[in-house]
Formats: sequence, C-alpha cells, structure tokens
Amino acid sequence: MMTGKEYRESIRKLKRRVFILGEEVQDVVDHPLTRPHVNAAALTYELAEDPQHQDLMTATSHLTGRRINRFTHIHQSTGDLVKKVKMLRLLGRRTGTCFQRCVGWDALNALYNVTYEVDLKHGTQYFQRLTRFLVHVQDADLMSEGAMTDPKGDRSLPPSKQPDPDMYLHVVARRDDGIVVRGAKLHQTGAVNSHEIIVMPTTALKEEDKDYAVACAVPSDAPGLLFVFGRQASDERRLSGKLDQGNPRFGFVGGEAMVIFDNVFVPWERVFLHGEHEFALPLVETFASYHRQNYGGCKTGVADVLIGAAALMAQYNGVVSSPHIRDKLVEMVQLAETLYACSISCSSEGRPTPAGACYVDPLLANTAKLNTTRNIYEICRLAHDITGGLLATSPSERDLLHPEVGPFIRKYFKGASEVPAEARLRLARLIEGMTGCTALAESMHGAGSPQALRIGLARQANLNEKMELAKALAGLDEGEKP
Ligand code: SF4
Ligand code: FE
Repeated sequence: MMTGKEYRESIRKLKRRVFILGEEVQDVVDHPLTRPHVNAAALTYELAEDPQHQDLMTATSHLTGRRINRFTHIHQSTGDLVKKVKMLRLLGRRTGTCFQRCVGWDALNALYNVTYEVDLKHGTQYFQRLTRFLVHVQDADLMSEGAMTDPKGDRSLPPSKQPDPDMYLHVVARRDDGIVVRGAKLHQTGAVNSHEIIVMPTTALKEEDKDYAVACAVPSDAPGLLFVFGRQASDERRLSGKLDQGNPRFGFVGGEAMVIFDNVFVPWERVFLHGEHEFALPLVETFASYHRQNYGGCKTGVADVLIGAAALMAQYNGVVSSPHIRDKLVEMVQLAETLYACSISCSSEGRPTPAGACYVDPLLANTAKLNTTRNIYEICRLAHDITGGLLATSPSERDLLHPEVGPFIRKYFKGASEVPAEARLRLARLIEGMTGCTALAESMHGAGSPQALRIGLARQANLNEKMELAKALAGLDEGEKP
C-alpha cells in the first residue's frame, strides 16, 4: 500500500493537462486551490498506515489474498458494507469534508457485478479484463475516479438524437488495438488528483444509442484528456491567511472538475462495456446505489464536526447551557444519526450477487441519500442559528493583524470567559465554509439529484405488495364479501 507521501509523489509525477482559473497548472499537489483536496484524499492512505484504523481502512483482497487499502476492495459481505460506512464516517470526522476516493471505488464495485452479467448473456470477456485491472489497482494502491455524468445537452432527447453527438461520451473509432472515445464528464469529484478515470454511461440506452454504451478505464495522463477545475464559493480565500480559510488543511467539498475526452484512445484490455446498451441502466443503478449508501457515512462524519463547531461556538458565546441551544444541538444529532442509520441498514440488508460480491439494499440506499438532501440543510440551518451573525460579517485576518483596527477587533469579538476573538473568528469561518453553497449543493446533487432518487424509490417501493397488505386487513381479499 502507498503512504500518504507516496500518493502525493505519484500524483505529482503524472503528466496531465489541468486548467485552473484560466491557466495550465503543472502541480496540483502544491497549488493552493487544489492542495486541500489532495490532503483529504491523502488521508485515505495515511489512516490505512495507522494500526489503530487498519480494521476499517484495509481489507484482504479476494483476488490475491494480499492486504489492500479498503478503497480498492470488492465488498464480499454485509460486514464489508458496514465497515465501508464506518470508514467513511471516520474520514468525514477527520477531514470535515469530502475525501473523494469513494466514487471510483463504487464504479469498480458496480462494474464487477455488471460485467459478470454482461458476459453471461453475451459471452464477452469483460469480467476477466476488469479483474486483471482490479489487481493492478489494488497492488499499486491507485485512486480511481468514477466518471458518470455527461453534459446531456437537451434533456428531452436521447444521446443519439442530440444535435451535437458529443453531449454524451461515445465511441468515435474502433481499431484493432482498442477504441477512441470523445465527449466530456462534468462535476467529477477528485478528478485532478486521481490516477485512473473509470468511465461509465450516465443513463438508460437503447439500440440506437449503442455507441454511447461504453465503460472503460483511462489513466489520468492519457493523451487527449483535459481537466478544467471548477470554482467553489469563496475559493480565493485559499489565497489568503489561514484564519480566513476555515478548514485550511482539507478545504470544503471535493474539488470537482470537468473532464474533456478529446479523442482518447483506450486499449481493449481496459474496455469493460462496448455496445451492450441494455446493461447501461443496470450499471447506472448499481453504481448509484453503492454511492448513495455512502452519504450517511461521510456526511454524518462531517456533521459530527459541524455539531461540535456549533456547540463550541455556543460555549464561546456563553450560551451552551441554555435550553434552546441544547434542543437545537440535540436536533442536529438526531438528524445526523438518521442518515447514519439508513446507511448502516442498507448495508446490513445487502445481499450476495451472482459475481460473488455483496450489493446494498437499493431502496434503503436511495432513502439514505434522499434524507441527506434535506437533513444536511436542516443541520446547517441550525448551525447558522446557533452561530449568529458573525458567520456572515466577520472581518478578515488582515484586519485582525492591522495595527490600528486589530486591537479593536480583538476587544469586540472576544467571547465569554475571555475566549479570544481569534478563536471565535476561526470557528465562524469553519462553520461558514462547511455550511456554504458548495457544500449544500453537493449534499443535494452528489450521487443523484432528488428527482433521480424519487424515481429509484418509486421503482423499488413495491406499491402492489403494500396494496395487498391493506386489502388483506380491510377484508378486500378476492372472494370475501362485504
Ligand atoms: Fe465520498 Fe461522495 Fe462523500 Fe465525497 S461526497 S466523501 S466522494 S461519498
Ligand atoms: Fe459526491
């Protein structure tokens, strides 16, 4: 397994084309806008080195019998699924943000199950290829990024009817040694600091969309790949003093990028779906369910930090024992633990798959994520309520250090029991970043927007069975007369 230091070095060595704020950047490890995200991802390596966390952070490969980082493991049991959620909560508690490595992991688990089914039906060799690729990922301890979301153009039209055929990533050429793909993937978490990009289709596909039914692995330094790093609210704070940054080491949210595939060649050995359009939807659903499972893990860990920050702010303000503050803190805890309960339950209710892996209960996984789109907003609202107006109006670190106004800021921002102004300001910045627009939008749209979750719930809810239950109790069974 790689150490955190080795991970950073391995990312530094990649010769990729990354653009940030209109400039091509050579080193994302030390660039102030990307460094926090690299640090958060590096923690997935660092904690695996720590004997105290090895049970959660590592696993035994079912392919090689070797010890591997859990982020490269194929879940073998419900126990593995539960450990996944606990590990994500641990990392959320330590970073206060997204550590990005789950997306590619979920893509590999989804492909493991779906390629097996494709081979059964079509006699293809995808499962074997994927297994060989997995051994490489596990042995080299690589970070993979899961690339699903296409730009989608006119949402009312399928991929093959778009005026611009590149609105969904597709195969544009077939050669003896592989395929060439073109298109783009948007909102890609952790893309600029991953070793591999795992491409999957984004939606259900029909026969006429066959060229869009493609799944493959692309090294992030493959020729033709371009990364454009996204902006986040207040990202220029990272260019200022530590106090203004809120979470200087790990930042906020995952560091999303647009990934452009400008005629990228992929050798056959790395192609895991090619034209079997009827498997696009199962792949999307399997990936989405594994990814939705996560949200009661990572977000609950992040919520633990936020609840702690709100409680600390109340203490700094001298109101921590007021009954209304205690009520609000308790409510935040209940909202967070509800998310966790859903993620644990969809894991415990997992089931073995034909490929020999273990799959979450999709209905409960959808519920976990749909709760996240509401509960995190409510948790943030309560954090704002407790924190007070300094959340939005605090002066900068430069003002605090200014010879004339600095002493006034220190005097008037002081809290209860001589809590220094700087402590309150630092905490306010942490809460501001953790509850800001980018963090909230991620809770809303990451792993699927609410409507996608509702469609999943409607599909899995089995309303007919529920109607039968009601009929039986109301004496409406067939043959029974009123
Ligand atoms: Fe992992 Fe997604 Fe949570 Fe980020 S938001 S830590 S990628 S599950
Ligand atoms: Fe996400």
